[in-house]
Amino acid sequence: MALISIGDAHAQIRDGLQPLEAESVSLADAQGRVLAQDVCADRDMPPFNRAMMDGFAVRAADVQNPPVTLPVVDTVLAGTASSREVRPGEAVRIMTGATVPVGSDAVQMLENTESMDRESVTVLESVSAGRHVAKQGSDCRAGDVLLQSGTSLSAARLGVCAMVGQTSLDVYRQPRVAILSTGDELVDVNEAPGPVQIRESNRTSVGALVQRAGAVLVHTAIVPDQEEATCEAIRNALACSDVLLLSGGISKGDRDIVRACLIQEGVTPVFHGVCIKPGKPLFFGRSGSTLVFGLPGNPVSSLVTARLFVVPALRQLMGYQRPDEVRMMMPLLNEVKGTGNRPWVKAATVQWGQGVWVHTTGGSGDMKGFARGEELVMLPANHPTLPVGASVEVLLGDPGS
Ligand code: AMP
Ligand code: MG
Repeated sequence: MALISIGDAHAQIRDGLQPLEAESVSLADAQGRVLAQDVCADRDMPPFNRAMMDGFAVRAADVQNPPVTLPVVDTVLAGTASSREVRPGEAVRIMTGATVPVGSDAVQMLENTESMDRESVTVLESVSAGRHVAKQGSDCRAGDVLLQSGTSLSAARLGVCAMVGQTSLDVYRQPRVAILSTGDELVDVNEAPGPVQIRESNRTSVGALVQRAGAVLVHTAIVPDQEEATCEAIRNALACSDVLLLSGGISKGDRDIVRACLIQEGVTPVFHGVCIKPGKPLFFGRSGSTLVFGLPGNPVSSLVTARLFVVPALRQLMGYQRPDEVRMMMPLLNEVKGTGNRPWVKAATVQWGQGVWVHTTGGSGDMKGFARGEELVMLPANHPTLPVGASVEVLLGDPGS
């Protein structure tokens, strides 16, 4: 298959992709999930006329010509209400959060009063009616929609859910991800590698990435470069995942059998080969509703392609309305050599000081250099050497909501 552009690859992955079905989770477990229901106010907010300051509840009309000394007929604290109506010429001592007593229509803050004893107060400044009183229902009315379905649950929005007593929430299900690392040369991280073996690291790095994106890692395995074993591993993984990731074996080498095995197991190829460096051999296909990605085995390539193509798909399955990473233009802090005929992705760090600058950190085969950066710089194909200060596109590490 011919190489397709990054944009076309995204469009083909996204084509027809819907959020997974909804499930109910407890409020405590809803962090980072996306609402599959509206959240409504269960009562007026504030639920009563609430004092916004410590001071004295008065009738505004009584204190228009200060100083005015009034008898203090009661005290109300947050969590209590006065049974006493404030009659003309009276005041009630009141604390922030308490119910403003019937009869009074304003709170004069403590700082604008003087008290010689507990029984009376001298109000030193006038107040207008409604001053320092949050009226019942002024934030919202019972039944108002506060959060719409499709909203991601940030800390503040979870706070809103708690305020309206939403102890469980309908949210979109988290995608189940399986990762198969193919390669005869690979040994588990717990094993000592022989002289021609290497430690398998993609399950760790890509696994961390997909979990951070909100997916659940349900199954991983190392698979030798043999057809029968690869087909069986694919079959098992497809049975338990919404998204199957394979690493390695997807290029043009003698032992690159992953594509043939996927097809044998009923996966329909959508594209194979993207115009990008690193990550050119990326494969994408579908098996029913399961998305299947064949990532190149090189540790940097597999992480770059997972981040650019797999993470947005996972976020879309989770219901995020903006599944892509946040992109910004930033000036370069270092010179970057010209690229070839493919867009080039490099790891980078962002430096915040006098302005915001971006600094690239490593080459496409160098995991150690790549790991120094949290952000990715996207360089267009065929660009000349870029000097310090040239503006480049940066994908910030944390995706938006
Ligand atoms: P492949 O895509 O299978 O041709 O692999 C490309 C390179 O990445 C080879 O040098 C592999 O040894 C290495 N590689 C493949 N899979 C992994 C993995 N899971 N962990 C670490 N390195 C890998
Ligand atoms: Mg291989």
